[in-house]
Amino acid sequence: MTPNALFYLLILIIVIVFLIDSLLDFLNARHYNNQIPEELANVYPEEEYQKSIAYKMANYKFKLVSSIISLAIMLLFFFLDGFAWVDNIARSFSDNSIIVGLLFFGIIMISSDILSTPAAYYKIFTIEEKFGFNKMSIRTFFIDKIKSIIMMIIVGGGLLALIIWFYQITGNSFWVYAWVLVSIFTLSMNMFYAKLIVPIFNKQTPLESGELRDTIEAYSKKVGFRLKDIFVIDGSKRSTKANAYFSGFGSEKRITLYDTLIKDLDKEEIVAVLAHEVGHYKKRHVIINLALSIVLTGLTLWFLSLFIANPLLSEALAVKTPSFHIGLIAFGILYSPISEITGLIMNIVSRAFEYQADNYAKNTYNNEALINSLKKLSKNNLSNLTPHPAMVFIHYSHPTLLQRIKNLRK
Ligand SMILES: [Zn+2]
Repeated sequence: MTPNALFYLLILIIVIVFLIDSLLDFLNARHYNNQIPEELANVYPEEEYQKSIAYKMANYKFKLVSSIISLAIMLLFFFLDGFAWVDNIARSFSDNSIIVGLLFFGIIMISSDILSTPAAYYKIFTIEEKFGFNKMSIRTFFIDKIKSIIMMIIVGGGLLALIIWFYQITGNSFWVYAWVLVSIFTLSMNMFYAKLIVPIFNKQTPLESGELRDTIEAYSKKVGFRLKDIFVIDGSKRSTKANAYFSGFGSEKRITLYDTLIKDLDKEEIVAVLAHEVGHYKKRHVIINLALSIVLTGLTLWFLSLFIANPLLSEALAVKTPSFHIGLIAFGILYSPISEITGLIMNIVSRAFEYQADNYAKNTYNNEALINSLKKLSKNNLSNLTPHPAMVFIHYSHPTLLQRIKNLRK
């Protein structure tokens, strides 16, 4: 293959991934107005339902415009040899390949972050605001942004520096060391996420004593889940949307309930949601997901090691000196069709897990209470009741509301 052919192959992959994604959105949008299934007839009052359709349309149009703009910027960057240009800038500061790699990715990541900021701002302060979801102040928006950039520099920069260093000293077998490093990182992130990362953005408090805690206590005693592993998070600081999740494992496991969820649901419905989350814990979903993602990481890094030393990758991007960071960019694009497929597989697994957690809640608590809570949450989040099946199959990490209700009533 010539460098020129590889260049056009990369462009082709980018465009095809974009087209498939847009086609899915288009198909999905054509179903916004579908007849609501009988089981879901009472989710929305008519006026609210019209509002949910308007919300979906606003998000659809927003995504279409913003993804076309970012595709255009990306193609322009490719055709104007942008990577070679950034590589030259990075090389003007240092000869050390770790520092060059860090500067290269630093420039690309931070510029793309800045370029995407207006879209993120518009989404929150125009669309979310208009539909009454937004509770975030402009100050919080920018503070969040700064915090996540700092985190990306420390964590992403640290990992990248180590991986380039492994590549320098071990050559093509770097992937084994990188795999061990990324696996340890993933494990500790999963374990300490709630203690280390969440507090940077949110406040978490143990469940307050009172009626709700008493109601939950009876259930948690029955199934053997410690009350002190249940936390309430101040999601209301950013949005009225409600959620709950299970995270961590071993001594660091916990269930996090949004304060907005507690506000929206009655006590029985909250316990049903909690029962679903306990189901994720009892069925070891976090641990299985971790094992899966570690295997996938190994596979990806092994693939990377087969390609990374090939000078064709840098030649295709018009970069004179082959390097790990340029190889990583080209490989990332070549690999994106495969990562779309692994993402799809992870979603299939995730949907199976959601059914298992729902069944656990049904068996240990009450299916109708869970159905009521899912309906309320769908209504309050203006969720799509009639998504296109292809969209569900490829992108949904959860079964649709209709599928979950049918399963819970089986
Ligand atoms: Zn779940």
